[in-house]
Amino acid sequence: MIIRNARVVTFDATNRVLENADVEVGSDGAIRRVEAGLGARGKGRGTLSPGPQPLAPADIDAHGRLLMPALINCHTHLYSTLARGITLPGRAPKNFPEILKKLWWRLDRALNPDDVYYSALVGLVDCAKNGVGTLVDHHSSPNACAGSLDQIERAFREVGLRGVLCYETSDRDGPAKAQAALDENVRFIERTGRAGDGLIAASFGLHASFTLSDRTLRQAVEAEESLGAGFHIHVAEDRSDLEHARRRFKKTVVARLRDLGVMTDRTLAAHCVHVTAGDITALAKLGANVVHNPQSNSNNAVGIAKLLELVKAGVLVGLGSDGYSPRMWEEFKTAFHLQKVRTGDPRVGYAEAYAAALLNNRTIARKLWGMDIGRIEAGARADLILVDYYPPTPLEATNLFGHFLFGIANAPIDTLIVDGRVVLKDKRCVTVDEAAVAERATRQAKALWQRF
Ligand SMILES: [Zn+2]
Repeated sequence: MIIRNARVVTFDATNRVLENADVEVGSDGAIRRVEAGLGARGKGRGTLSPGPQPLAPADIDAHGRLLMPALINCHTHLYSTLARGITLPGRAPKNFPEILKKLWWRLDRALNPDDVYYSALVGLVDCAKNGVGTLVDHHSSPNACAGSLDQIERAFREVGLRGVLCYETSDRDGPAKAQAALDENVRFIERTGRAGDGLIAASFGLHASFTLSDRTLRQAVEAEESLGAGFHIHVAEDRSDLEHARRRFKKTVVARLRDLGVMTDRTLAAHCVHVTAGDITALAKLGANVVHNPQSNSNNAVGIAKLLELVKAGVLVGLGSDGYSPRMWEEFKTAFHLQKVRTGDPRVGYAEAYAAALLNNRTIARKLWGMDIGRIEAGARADLILVDYYPPTPLEATNLFGHFLFGIANAPIDTLIVDGRVVLKDKRCVTVDEAAVAERATRQAKALWQRF
């Protein structure tokens, strides 16, 4: 397949922006060739092409649209999809622990295997339409735990997105459920392997310090050791997590997890809002991977992560949605805006928000699961989006931030390709019938809400 006549933001080693370019994708799903100045117009400086080329059936004429790497969401919860529009009984939850108890821990207990599958399926269609090609999911369904990751994997394969799956181990529903969660992680990692087949990979899921005993964490560390999958865990999302660790263990959340062997260079630590200066130094030293979720943090009123300080200390910080939105561009904008609001300084946040969304997520995907995505360069996997963006001002490698913030982030996604396979074309999902999926998911949600 050749994508012709595109304006390509490559994110390659020299961050090139190419005009009228062709990108050739091999049948193995890898990018084979990136060539500027050729394209359907054949008017470029290249001499290899004799001029306008007829389109082969599999080829795509970009008509000058912007081609860039598909977006990556490094922390989400697809099981939350069917909660959209749900009514909570009683008064509104007034803090984060109440939000968990009144909404998420009631919802996850009510999920059955079909809910798990359809929430993932309909959620993934939503993500595809927003240009997200890879999601790192964190799943919980305590009354439908065994095999739940297979249900999610099935949805990923049907829609055609790349995913990293794990099951959320917690002691909050008693020892039997905690053991079942450990077993589900081990079973899935043993079956897929840490890096999986490149499309579906695995990590070892843990909920958070405040719902996990030392005993369960030690069991998880022991089980993970031979698997090498790395942990995916919520860290100091709310102040209550930090207060719990200080009260119970006389240390911070990060220190507790480090001392138990949970926090390593393979760990994906979501949030890290309530971390101390010492914690930040420790995270950098450990080489841990932090995922910032700015919209969810705002929505739950848990605070604003110290993104600037984390990055300055050398911590690798990626970006996730925590299930709040399928639109990673909104997370990018919110990450940027919140640092300005937090510091009262309009000069900050540019480099950090840009890096988190566009550079660090791909670094995390490569480091933890060997996924070579997030760049348009020969050899990388072909995870690409075509965006309806025709810049009204000069677009160059040096001014991408302004175009992302004010233009590209608002532009419709026309096409999504993952691993060389077309998932979205002309803004429609071509792998599954999206209207039928939404209709089926609505029926599923209705029944789920009755049990909620
Ligand atoms: Zn989360």
